[in-house]
Amino acid sequence: MKHPIDPRDVPLLQALLDPFIDKSRGPKNCWPWTGASNGRYGTVYFKGHNYGSHVLAYLADRKKIRQELLVLHNCDNSICCNPAHLFQGTHGRNAKDRERRNRGCYGTRNHLGKYPIQMVEEARRRYWAGESPTALTSEYKLSRNLIYLWASNRIRAHGI
Ligand SMILES: [Zn+2]
Repeated sequence: MKHPIDPRDVPLLQALLDPFIDKSRGPKNCWPWTGASNGRYGTVYFKGHNYGSHVLAYLADRKKIRQELLVLHNCDNSICCNPAHLFQGTHGRNAKDRERRNRGCYGTRNHLGKYPIQMVEEARRRYWAGESPTALTSEYKLSRNLIYLWASNRIRAHGI
């Protein structure tokens, strides 16, 4: 974020963004930005500068932002403003995440962001250590399919 926003402006931001964010699909799904866009990202003009709508949506939700990092989507939907689909990371990470998702993870996209990375790593380790998928399935309360996906490293939790 090139032009930092005063945290005291967050309530104002929320009021500004809200009418343009379509939340009709519910908390788990994407919330598309319905205002202006640059063809890829939603755009918002605020106090003399242009911002990505997803960047401001992230800030409005978390109340703070790390200036040195980008705000990225874990849903690949660049106009999405659902804070649950947004995280901070670097450019390299962004490209890597997209590459990984493009290898066929679309069907499981809705699971992104739901599980802590420690849990994913632990389940994966135990699977490869020879524990039965049935036991892992009941212990972690997950579908067998998801255990396999994690074990094969085709899906990662949000925030890594
Ligand atoms: Zn989304």
